[in-house]
Amino acid sequence: MKCPFCGASSSHIRVIDTREVSDGIRRRRECDQCRQRFTTYERVASINLLVVKRDNRREEFDREKLVKSMRISCSKRPVSSAAIEDAARDIEARLYAMGKSEIPSLKIGEMVMEHLRDIDEVAYVRYASVYRRFRDVDSMAEEIQQLMERKRREEELKNQIPLPIDE
Ligand SMILES: [Zn+2]
Repeated sequence: MKCPFCGASSSHIRVIDTREVSDGIRRRRECDQCRQRFTTYERVASINLLVVKRDNRREEFDREKLVKSMRISCSKRPVSSAAIEDAARDIEARLYAMGKSEIPSLKIGEMVMEHLRDIDEVAYVRYASVYRRFRDVDSMAEEIQQLMERKRREEELKNQIPLPIDE
């Protein structure tokens, strides 16, 4: 293993936290050369997970493909590839945690949208517009409306929290 940030060899990387997750082990690591932290996942006995597409075709679940689809939605947006990778790992872990051998692609799409909503609004709308195949412009507008409403509430909440004064 190499540090994904500076390429330092494994001797420079130490584990700072180990946690068991549904499908394996999650380790938080720190590079003592560049001080960056990152997460690795070790999967145990990965079962074959099939994705059931809209037309009922089955396809083996492929995290890379998931990452790629998210990247397309995030293109030219201020989203780090680490954020996309994290989201993909989370989705994968949740899919395996469901303990099913087949998962409808729609379900995965919902999970992607959940993440993108928090990562970047534009990416979210892009993804949603492709994924949900909005029947018409109205449902698309409604989605954007809800998103803005949510953002406004979050802003309000943020403003309510007293900020520490550093003077
Ligand atoms: Zn490093």
